[in-house]
Amino acid sequence: MSDQKPKLHVIEGTPAPETPVEQARKRIRAMPKPASMIQCGRCGSREVIETKIGMMYKNGKAQGGTKQILCASCLMRGERVVLC
Ligand SMILES: [Zn+2]
Repeated sequence: MSDQKPKLHVIEGTPAPETPVEQARKRIRAMPKPASMIQCGRCGSREVIETKIGMMYKNGKAQGGTKQILCASCLMRGERVVLC
């Protein structure tokens, strides 16, 4: 190995300068997370099924409850994988 190391521009102990790039990064960090495809972490499927837990039957219809997104492929195999 030669001692020709690539030059690294490391800023130590000082905050990042207010460059347009840094300002853009700050703006991106402040933004809500972008939409992303829901994918099962176990089987990789993108087919989901929406369930509700604890719904109430009121005025002739079901309402309320906690929504959960489950993986449809895993559910068909008898496994309950909650995605969100
Ligand atoms: Zn799955």
